[in-house]
Amino acid sequence: MESLRTCKLFGVIRAVLGIKGALPLIHGPVGCFYHIRYLLSLRSGSPIRILSTEMDQNDVVFGAEEKLRQQIIVADEKYSPQLITVLSSCASSIIGENIDQVIEEVKKDIKADIIFINSGGFEGTQIEGYKECLNVLIGLIDEPHLKKDSINLIGLYRGGSDLKILKNYFKRLKIDVSCVLTGGCTLDEIRGASNAVLNISMCDASAIEPCELMEKKFGIPFLQETLPLGVRASSKFFKVICNALNKEYLLKKDEIKAQMEINKIKPYLKDKKVIIVAGATRAVALVDFLSDIGMDPILIGLDFEGNNTMKNLERLIKQDNINPKILREPDYYDILNYAKDLEPDIILGGMGEFVLSRELKIPLMDVMHAQEITFGFEGATSLVKTIKETLETKKI
Ligand code: SF4
Repeated sequence: MESLRTCKLFGVIRAVLGIKGALPLIHGPVGCFYHIRYLLSLRSGSPIRILSTEMDQNDVVFGAEEKLRQQIIVADEKYSPQLITVLSSCASSIIGENIDQVIEEVKKDIKADIIFINSGGFEGTQIEGYKECLNVLIGLIDEPHLKKDSINLIGLYRGGSDLKILKNYFKRLKIDVSCVLTGGCTLDEIRGASNAVLNISMCDASAIEPCELMEKKFGIPFLQETLPLGVRASSKFFKVICNALNKEYLLKKDEIKAQMEINKIKPYLKDKKVIIVAGATRAVALVDFLSDIGMDPILIGLDFEGNNTMKNLERLIKQDNINPKILREPDYYDILNYAKDLEPDIILGGMGEFVLSRELKIPLMDVMHAQEITFGFEGATSLVKTIKETLETKKI
């Protein structure tokens, strides 16, 4: 199998890296640290700090709790993080290292807050990692003391341009964002997240359970909407939230302006065949967006599924009269073999689809990790322009 999924540790690290001032320390061999740091640095285009206890053969036989204790102290002194997150790996999980006890003993010797997140790679995929991290963070939230007319965005791990533009739209709608779990949040924002009146699930696969947990613990209801990708989905996303909070929807002008811009380019994109390779939430949002602009999503490779992914895809297929082939948790060759006969024009995916793009000799547009805006009305216009440019200029 050449799976498109990765391990639980990866998901935990991605989620932890979203918290400002948090430092992940892997209790495991050097490979876990090296490959994940390498990939995430490459994807984000900036250096990423992850530490490792670098367990060796001796440690795996005799245990390395003392080594972990020392590394925690060094990490605290050298980097002065606000939060140290100790993460287990396959090796430390299998030999049963008592990380909770190490943390309990070392707490008094360090300035940073410290938590442990179970991250053994064999325990699940990256989705289990996101969920585990969110569940541990929910344990840090204080009891509500001053309810504010604000929202939390749950399961949004990517900061950058999309988060910035999303916050800007909410500001214009006079809606405060209390906490984004975890894209760019602070420890204080996490602790105060119970003061929000509404949670928005931003990830169908990893955010529903944490939203349910917050509803149970703090009485915060939640909404699950398609990501605000494209004019149609953005309009619905913001209207539903405004409606839930009794706020006026003030983005009609943005919507009209974006639609006019997009209408100029739509004839060029009409019926162009698209392969989508993405996770649950983004795949649904991309299908919605592409069929709205008249493109033809012919093949969907779903890295992983969420609670409502298939239901949402079926709804869109019926609504937009499209007929894509859906490959659930495919491996690389499943996608390649199906794609060969379909004569696609473009792939919308991530860096991982570079090889597929070379083999099929069609251009790839990275809609997963690039720093481009994809959310909201600005994002819709920008995406449409970039798809056209990619089709025109990036001939393989
Ligand atoms: S699967 Fe296990 S050994 Fe491999 S990177 Fe993940 S935690 Fe490390």
